Amino acid sequence: MRRISIFGATGSIGQNTIDLIARAPEDYDVVALTGAGNIEQLAKDAKRLRAEVAVTAHDHLLDDLRDALAGSGVVAQAGTDAITEAAARPADWIMSAIVGAAGLAPGVAALKQGTTLALANKESLVCAGSLMLETAKAHGARLLPVDSEHSAVFQALVGEEMTAVERVIITASGGAFRDWPIEDLANATLDQASSHPNWDMGQRITIDSASMFNKAMELIETREFFGVQPRQIEVLVHPESMIHAMVGFNDGALMAHVGPPDMRHAIGYALHWPARQALPVARLDLAAIGQLSFRAPCETRWPALRLAREVMETGGLAGAVFNAAKETALDEFIAGHIGFNEMAMIVEEVLAIITSTPGHIDATMTLDNVAKVDHLARQEAQRVIHNRAG
Ligand code: NDP
Ligand code: MG
Repeated sequence: MRRISIFGATGSIGQNTIDLIARAPEDYDVVALTGAGNIEQLAKDAKRLRAEVAVTAHDHLLDDLRDALAGSGVVAQAGTDAITEAAARPADWIMSAIVGAAGLAPGVAALKQGTTLALANKESLVCAGSLMLETAKAHGARLLPVDSEHSAVFQALVGEEMTAVERVIITASGGAFRDWPIEDLANATLDQASSHPNWDMGQRITIDSASMFNKAMELIETREFFGVQPRQIEVLVHPESMIHAMVGFNDGALMAHVGPPDMRHAIGYALHWPARQALPVARLDLAAIGQLSFRAPCETRWPALRLAREVMETGGLAGAVFNAAKETALDEFIAGHIGFNEMAMIVEEVLAIITSTPGHIDATMTLDNVAKVDHLARQEAQRVIHNRAG
């Protein structure tokens, strides 16, 4: 029996993870499941999987969670500290699938118990990559990628030497607006940005796919996961989302990972690693698909890609600023307060302000300093938004 916990259990990645483990319940002892607002789903899964503890991020929902779990034997807890404490409960495999910077502290707590952390929460690597990697090293923990591109790279690297790697190519579907005239983007609505052509994901990452902030974060994630230089990482627009990534070697070979756009593949690979086990995903019929297409990304359409390269160049805590400004801009776009293109403008402005003020991004990378700069970037983003409106 493997002891496993799922952080962000009620979300898209969490539910896909539960789909896989619920197919073989005899193989797993479920330790902790966490969620935020969706108490009904959290309680339902915690009871069904006989979890030890279910935790909601929201203190005010503790009574609701207790009521929903009454008589089940599952312990109900609430609050961000309770989530981080749950990550310290001994487990053999932990899924990190909270959305946003809120996934960082539980991720670090999980690594400190020297376990295997399956990382969907790319924000933790963007905000605090070296802290995550150093914590993993110090405690003998293992980080496995869950993001489809990074799982694809990881799989293409099996048995290879990193010294033979020339480049890593991560693909991007181009999101909802890849074929829109650029001048129409300013008026893109929330509904339009919230539908992805190929993948079924949470709302935030779907909008981040339309703006390419998702791919921008994945550039940084690639650098952290695989230790390659920014100039070795390329983004390739591939509308069909069948090839998830390619690794180019010094003999000219490109190893491509091809698979259906179903996150259960990458989750299942991380769950069973280093073995491969049968997974309930569709098998591709390439003859029926006929052809795959590729194009270079346009940085005028997607300024987020340029910003990510600047963040990598700046280093330090710039990633945490980038992520926090992006999260705030995304909240404001979802709330209908700013337009689609303004998200990148705001992030750019916040980055310029904070990186030019000494003492912030060059601070030591600790959880406290990341939280401080995250808070500052959110405040600056609000100020920039206020000034733009005024
Ligand atoms: P969802 O929005 O579907 O789910 C997010 C999860 O986090 C939910 O369980 C939610 O709880 C919980 N949550 C939200 N806010 C907080 C908070 N402040 N504290 C604790 N928990 C919180 O997101 P996805 O599943 O799409 O994405 C999860 C992560 O995986 C993200 O980092 C994303 O970038 C990454 N990822 C996702 C992919 C996908 O296919 N969806 C692909 C690759 C990476 P509740 O729903 O109960 O409110
Ligand atoms: Mg991805």
